[in-house]
Amino acid sequence: MVSRKHDRIHVDDTILCKLCLSELGEIYSDLGLTSDELDLLDMPRRSFTVHFPVRMDSGKIKMFVGHRVQYNDARGPSKGGLRFHPELTIDHVKDLAFLMVLKCAVVNIPFGGSKGGVVVNPKELSRNELEQVTRGYIRAIADYIGPFKDIPAPDVYTDEKIMVWILDEYERIKGMHVPAVVTGKPLELQGSRARSYSTSLGGIYVLEEALKKVDLDKKDASVAVQGFGNVGENAARILFENGYRVIAVSDSRGAILSESGLDISEVIRHKERNGTVGGFGGAENITNEELLVSNCDILIPAALSDQLNANNARDVKAKIVLELANAPTTTEADEIFSEKGIMLVPDVVANAGGVVVSYFEWSQNLNSEYWEEEKVIRRLKNVMITAFNDVYTLCIEGKCRMRRAAYQLAVKRILRAERLRGNL
Ligand code: NAD
Repeated sequence: MVSRKHDRIHVDDTILCKLCLSELGEIYSDLGLTSDELDLLDMPRRSFTVHFPVRMDSGKIKMFVGHRVQYNDARGPSKGGLRFHPELTIDHVKDLAFLMVLKCAVVNIPFGGSKGGVVVNPKELSRNELEQVTRGYIRAIADYIGPFKDIPAPDVYTDEKIMVWILDEYERIKGMHVPAVVTGKPLELQGSRARSYSTSLGGIYVLEEALKKVDLDKKDASVAVQGFGNVGENAARILFENGYRVIAVSDSRGAILSESGLDISEVIRHKERNGTVGGFGGAENITNEELLVSNCDILIPAALSDQLNANNARDVKAKIVLELANAPTTTEADEIFSEKGIMLVPDVVANAGGVVVSYFEWSQNLNSEYWEEEKVIRRLKNVMITAFNDVYTLCIEGKCRMRRAAYQLAVKRILRAERLRGNL
């Protein structure tokens, strides 16, 4: 039962589940779903736990626990990340798998949704143990994944190197090359160009559409970006390279502001030398809280969940909030933004560029193709612009917040696929 109890808070993105899933009840009632439709959405199609042995560096055998949930595959094979986390539970994996179903449906790529992981603290493992845990997990679930069944990808504490071990173990088991079994691979092993910055670039294509709706020219727009990791740094860099005035950026150790605009390539060099954006010459040091309420036109939370909430939402001055992080805005803040006429572009649309390029990677692998970067980018742009406009149209027609419109669109698409298959 995914949609009825959401009180598990043990990793950051449980907040994402709480936010999204707490709205689902109302969305289902807005859509007037039948009890058959509700039942069908409320249960994952396959959800399982495996226990597998790993020989540790000490020579001792240790048993590990892994989960995988394939929530719904009506629209295509299940797609979802693999995470390593000591507090992972099957219930949390179920919620995250359902969110993947919604995300793939919103951007209209032919995937269902899944999620999985191993209950482990990867920081306590040697490199060899990490590899053996990955391979052991894949051996345990190999019959249930595959290019036309379920395709894992990186998630919390799993990376490109782990995706290579997944690929290699699966191919050893099957006795043939199967690159489309996993995405997030390095280019040398049939990964996709543009993947490393796809989430940020996809978000910026969405932003450009949003600017048109609020009648704001990017030449006049100032931007503040919270977070300077993979997503935030790439977003700030791409915006800067495209002529936006990025006035503030931050990381966990500091935040900086310059009304006239920051030279982001210099900020990146400063961070490489000093480990933080803080103390950048020519800019004022501010707090992360001050960044969120700074005098910017576009606010991009790209760090943690729950950053924009009832305590600070009324002070936000931006005209557009682009959620590149997962669940940075609470429901209360979302409602306040709606009252204030601030356009909030929700995470399920804004940060979907990563899964879109995963789809391109899978598609290239199946067709033995290698797309040029320009082709990946062109197709990403097309998918993101279409998704934004699909959601925006519903939002205007239904006079509802954009997050609500996005979930309604996703649920309708999933149920339509179920109906076409004869499952409803
Ligand atoms: P990351 O770990 O690379 O970067 C996180 C950044 O946030 C770091 O710069 C860190 O210093 C900063 N940060 C941490 N605490 C902060 C605070 N209190 N104030 C300001 N900054 C703080 O992570 P990432 O991959 O860039 O992901 C960022 C967000 O985007 C997460 O919510 C993630 O779930 C979401 N997301 C990421 C991807 C992706 O492709 N990486 C895709 C979809 C969603």
